[in-house]
Amino acid sequence: MTEKNREDWIELAREITPTTTAWIDGPVASRSGATRATVNPATGAVLAEVAECDEHDVDAAVTTARRAFDAGGWATASPRERAAGLHRIAQRIEDGLDELALLDSLDAGKRIVDTRAIDAPGSAAILRWYAESLDKVYGEVAPTSAADLAVVTREPLGVVAAVVPWNYPLEMAIWKLAPALAAGNSVILKPSEDSPLSALRLAELAAEAGLPEGVLSVVPGAGPVVGQALGRHHDVDAVTFTGSTETARLFQVYAGQSNLKQVWPEAGGKSAVVVLDDVADLDLVADGVAAGIFTNTGQVCSATSRLVVQRGVADALIEKVVARANAITVGDPLDPATGMGPVVSERQAARVLSLMETGAAEAREVHGGGLVPGMPAPTYVRPQVLLGVDPAARIAQTEVFGPVLTVHVVDTVDEAVAVANGTPYALAAGLWTDGLTRAHSVARRLRAGTVSVNCVDALDVATPFGGFRGSGYGRDLSLHALDKFTGLKTTWIHHG
Ligand code: NAD
Repeated sequence: MTEKNREDWIELAREITPTTTAWIDGPVASRSGATRATVNPATGAVLAEVAECDEHDVDAAVTTARRAFDAGGWATASPRERAAGLHRIAQRIEDGLDELALLDSLDAGKRIVDTRAIDAPGSAAILRWYAESLDKVYGEVAPTSAADLAVVTREPLGVVAAVVPWNYPLEMAIWKLAPALAAGNSVILKPSEDSPLSALRLAELAAEAGLPEGVLSVVPGAGPVVGQALGRHHDVDAVTFTGSTETARLFQVYAGQSNLKQVWPEAGGKSAVVVLDDVADLDLVADGVAAGIFTNTGQVCSATSRLVVQRGVADALIEKVVARANAITVGDPLDPATGMGPVVSERQAARVLSLMETGAAEAREVHGGGLVPGMPAPTYVRPQVLLGVDPAARIAQTEVFGPVLTVHVVDTVDEAVAVANGTPYALAAGLWTDGLTRAHSVARRLRAGTVSVNCVDALDVATPFGGFRGSGYGRDLSLHALDKFTGLKTTWIHHG
């Protein structure tokens, strides 16, 4: 782990020249010549002018991806050959951890301590995990009569589009790319317009690592243009998507109106952390509750943005959580001492501030919120904790994607479960209890893709990640992710 200070990071940032070209069979400008400025939300400064692709670039990327798939160099390579290719890409990432961490910090305002310790090395680790897994996935021989042999194999789908958000730019891309490439597909990556830089660099690194031409393309551009063109393309076989529930719905429409491609949405959340009245160590729980919502400035799909606490411990816990929120240092993401960086853009800051106002009007008691004065850009918001909010209120039902925590005091376990489950989403949930039986029984009743008991946002490449209901149904990570990128094929040989 690096021990660099803020000045070191600023110095390193000066040495970086971001890649600004799309990647379609190599570095290319957009066909129209259009570019879009990508802005550092921490300063408001333009970082780079990035190729702004449109549907013609998407056509070119799909043609390239299809050609690469049909050529078979990657798709029909042995699992071990593909594994070696993924390991080589992982190595390139590991060789460039500082640069990739900086690109995500500068582009999305993420804390450098997080991108350097988690996002960048985590991305390499995920690639390596899939590289090591892919030659351990077997097909099946079906039970048939002795006169037949029915073999069931997993075939790559073909051309996969990966459309990702800005909150973990590199890591979200890798969550998609690693299993899709491992399975033998060609992939077209569309990064968020707010954070394209690490994806563009990744394309270069993959090419340097020897990934055959056309197997990975990167097409930066507007969601409604490039995202839609991918969603509607007749020669794209699947879309793996992470982003808002609203956009996830659109991809289902695009698929229905085009070629019925598979759509794997990982969408929004409004997750609850439930604290039962048997917990003894309230400081530990308060640390967990604060981390669950304020990490990454609340821009985490699985953020536990609602605290559901039993009355017996409510007052004491709320006091500790509010103290932790007030103690967070909001500041420069390149400063390792910063507790919370800016939100990703002025547009997102305006949305968060507007919801903070809504929340303040709906709450009985308001702690924090609003813009931090005197910062270089209007993107730094203060953590907000809202007490006395009706669980049905707008602020308790809407995904803010910012550092806003609503608190709901309940009397019974049944009430806690009802409030926790009472949103259109079902991505994640937290549970704090010292009772083993209650841990089992309440975790079972919480409707969520992941329930973290006595820990915060539990996540590992070995476990599936995704949700139910309005949070979508795709699963990233684990061997289950390979299901999304392969189709089952039966080859039946009759020799009677
Ligand atoms: P978003 O839905 O606005 O954008 C996500 C991606 O979709 C971007 O690449 C964007 O350009 C593209 N897009 C936008 N509009 C489009 C359209 N009309 N047609 C096609 N593509 C379009 O989401 P965001 O603001 O970038 O990210 C925040 C959201 O992502 C939150 O809702 C968060 O919960 C969600 N998220 C979910 C997970 C998960 O695993 N469930 C993980 C991270 C983030």
